[in-house]
Amino acid sequence: MSDRHITRRVRGSDTADGAGVKLKRIIGQPALDMLDPFLLLDEFRSDQAGDYIAGFPEHPHRGFETVTYMLAGHMQHQDNHGNRGDLSAGSVQWMTAGRGILHSEMPQQEHGLMWGFQLWVNLPAKDKMTAPRYQDIAPGRIPVVHPAEGVEVKVIAGELAGATGPVEGIATAPVYLDVSLQAGAELSLDLPAGHHGFAYVFEGDSALVGGERLQRSELGVLSEGDRLRLAAGDTPSRLLLVAGRPLRESVARYGPFVMNTQAEIHQAIADFRAGRF
Ligand code: MN
Repeated sequence: MSDRHITRRVRGSDTADGAGVKLKRIIGQPALDMLDPFLLLDEFRSDQAGDYIAGFPEHPHRGFETVTYMLAGHMQHQDNHGNRGDLSAGSVQWMTAGRGILHSEMPQQEHGLMWGFQLWVNLPAKDKMTAPRYQDIAPGRIPVVHPAEGVEVKVIAGELAGATGPVEGIATAPVYLDVSLQAGAELSLDLPAGHHGFAYVFEGDSALVGGERLQRSELGVLSEGDRLRLAAGDTPSRLLLVAGRPLRESVARYGPFVMNTQAEIHQAIADFRAGRF
């Protein structure tokens, strides 16, 4: 067994996307362009309606997966194939865009806190033009385990303490855990060797990740290894722990299209303009 540690720290940069939703972009910005197979990580958090009310009106995606994890608030998702789904607090939507969809993600509230994450996960070349697929996961389907005293983990993808997350059939074999640590709590967990991974503290002041302190709103890129130690300090904390098998393929990226070559990007733009999504 070898312990993972933090090799790099990144703070999100403030930006806006969609029709003007304010958010923190943590992966997919100059300080961390990508972390194969992860292309983007956004945290949106505001109780000011003006920061989120315009939502994400219809826009395309091709060649990768978008994963939305709602902590608070309510959005509705709708696409051009007739799919509609509620993104309510505690739910997860794992959308495999594949060859292409047009969708919108719009707030269903005019007041209160809207808080969550969107992660983009790349698809291998052989799957980029697959049929679109949705895994809409209600909060009750996400196992909650207590692998150590004072530790509670929601297992969204991957395995922990005998529980398996409900997200299935994903090419990069992801691990996606929401880890809550009470003050003084500790946890040592296995992570698949060879997976690239990161931890992101989103509640509390800080947490110890691989023995090093990670502040709130800080992402730590993890080293190689097959085990990770987590601990809270004197106060509780909560973090995302995400890992996936790297694809090690070329990445050609243009906004909401992520392919392997520039020619495929040009094809995606042409197909989008011709209404072939
Ligand atoms: Mn989208």
